[in-house]
Amino acid sequence: MFQLDKLLRDNIRKLVPYSSARDEFKGEAQVFLDANENSLGSPLTRWYNRYPDPLQWKVKEALSRVKGIAPQHIFLGNGSDECIDILYRAFCEPGKDNVIINPPTYGMYEVSAHINDVEVRRATLLDDFQLDLVHLENLVDENTKIIWICSPNNPTANSMNRQDVEVVLNNFPGLVVVDEAYINFSRHRSFIQELTDYPNLVVMQTMSKAWGLAGLRLGMAFASEAIINVYNKVKPPYNINQATQELALKALEDTDQVNDMIRALVTMREQMTIELAALPVVKKIYPSDANFLLVKVTDAKAVYQYLLNKGIVVRDRSKVELCEGCLRITVGTASENRQLLEALGQF
Ligand SMILES: *Cc1c(COP(=O)(O)O)cnc(C)c1O
Repeated sequence: MFQLDKLLRDNIRKLVPYSSARDEFKGEAQVFLDANENSLGSPLTRWYNRYPDPLQWKVKEALSRVKGIAPQHIFLGNGSDECIDILYRAFCEPGKDNVIINPPTYGMYEVSAHINDVEVRRATLLDDFQLDLVHLENLVDENTKIIWICSPNNPTANSMNRQDVEVVLNNFPGLVVVDEAYINFSRHRSFIQELTDYPNLVVMQTMSKAWGLAGLRLGMAFASEAIINVYNKVKPPYNINQATQELALKALEDTDQVNDMIRALVTMREQMTIELAALPVVKKIYPSDANFLLVKVTDAKAVYQYLLNKGIVVRDRSKVELCEGCLRITVGTASENRQLLEALGQF
């Protein structure tokens, strides 16, 4: 049912990818005169005068040990943004193909579609923020290439029912992308181990949230080797710079600290939920599997502005469908959370 070759755009199927100096010569040598680098060095360290590994094998091997996924099933992008954009460019014919999103959800699926002139169809989530499978199915036609599922979802903070995602994976012949940016904060199991069962599955994760490395810009896509090969064919040759590769490698050695931070953030999330619920300004707090809370307040616009005047920035989501009256609040440090609670207590 799933045929990758038929799903690809013609120009990408026929594409002869750029072959860099680093691609063409992979052996051991002492003298590198093949890439027009500055052999004398740089104002920084001698490392940075050389082009980085185009396929980031060291980072992927380290990630492979952390995630239990073979390196050839991993693509690294300049943030998840690049992992999203490349799927559009490889699979979606501008002005012809379409994708389906499940709003309210992460904004980049739609922005990236518009940049690529790809139609976006919307299967709004049900009132309990779960997938509307009937609506989803009705939106699919022969030009539907991708279904975007965000779980845990931003901004609603919940995870999608596993069985629902499996129904989509089993029945949709295009790509199903499960964006797990917040998976480390969730009680639910990742889909990352299901790649062998589903040739149409792409799981996205990121170093920007639990790993605390939003500034590095490192997104990950996990998929079949065939899909990863498409990613590698379309990506810019050196999409992950040397500094990011080195720093990510270093971070991946310290999983203990990351796990400690995840535990601390989840504990504070639960504590915040209790304390926020006790405030008169708070009408409802939705259950969260992420590092943020979706909070319904008495007057979202006024509360947002009030907090801003106190130097506290939250995200006003009150104009978003199904999120009327809601603010999205990131779990901060203990001190930041206290400041927020104190301010809201005085509203
Ligand atoms: C924050 C976030 C990301 C991460 O994006 P990066 O480009 O990797 O920083 C991806 N998906 C969702 C749903 C997010 O909220």
